[in-house]
Amino acid sequence: MAGYQLKLKRKQQVAEGTLALYFDKPDDFSFKAGQCVRLGLIDPPETDDEGNARILSLASTPAEPELMVATRIRSSAFKRVLSTLMPGAELTLKGPYGDFTLPAGPARELVFITGGIGITPVRSMLLQAIVENQGRQMTLFYANRRPEDAAFLDELTQACGADPHCTLVATMSQAEQSAQHWQGERGYVDRAMLGRYLTDVTRPVYYLDGPPGLVAAMKSMLVDAGVAEDQLRTEEFAGY
Ligand SMILES: Cc1cc2nc3c(=O)[nH]c(=O)nc-3n(C[C@H](O)[C@H](O)[C@H](O)COP(=O)(O)OP(=O)(O)OC[C@H]3O[C@@H](n4cnc5c(N)ncnc54)[C@H](O)[C@@H]3O)c2cc1C
Repeated sequence: MAGYQLKLKRKQQVAEGTLALYFDKPDDFSFKAGQCVRLGLIDPPETDDEGNARILSLASTPAEPELMVATRIRSSAFKRVLSTLMPGAELTLKGPYGDFTLPAGPARELVFITGGIGITPVRSMLLQAIVENQGRQMTLFYANRRPEDAAFLDELTQACGADPHCTLVATMSQAEQSAQHWQGERGYVDRAMLGRYLTDVTRPVYYLDGPPGLVAAMKSMLVDAGVAEDQLRTEEFAGY
């Protein structure tokens, strides 16, 4: 697999405790929406047992000129160093990896269910599908504790709102803890919530990703609702 050295262009806080990092795309680097890379620090000032690199999904789309990843900043050495990097800092990138990508045929209805930082590959796939104007029906269920925690929510709401085939359902499990007034769905994504937005829950292809606990819970909810296992695509963010 090809290896690259990248320069950090800029960083941006995209939700509370969540940092997006932007890089120039190397000329010979191509990827499919939804794929991930292994991003590595070069000679970091500190390290820990997990090492100097992490698997991160590309949150940018293949159509965008920059590469972008986003991550929750936590207390690992990798994240501490990552959050202090300044523009111009060099990192290594290996990849792309993975087959958590859009299906080949345009016809099938898609449903994405994710929570928190699991939005990264979904941002890439949803925006790419909108750019390609595939005409397929798509629904995103996006769960967070509070709107402040929901990376890319405004951007995705806008993009989806401008596409007649796209529906975005954001739900907050701790909306009462928010400084904002939340008017959308509340609580976890469950069978009843799916039923309010999907005409037939057994028909779509489902993309489930994020923390392993969320993926397992969504998978078992869908199988209980009569969705065939071969209609489920999953990607677990090990480490959350
Ligand atoms: C396909 C894929 C895509 C991902 N995309 C993203 C993304 O877009 N953004 C993002 O923030 N994170 C993503 N992750 C998760 C990411 O790789 C890190 O594991 C996560 O960010 C936690 O890193 P950390 O430095 O905070 O904690 P770490 O120091 O990595 O560890 C946190 C805890 O998880 C355990 N752990 C770490 N790695 C593993 C593992 N592989 N298996 C089991 N336990 C483990 C550690 O032992 C520790 O207890 C992705 C993971 C995968 C597999």
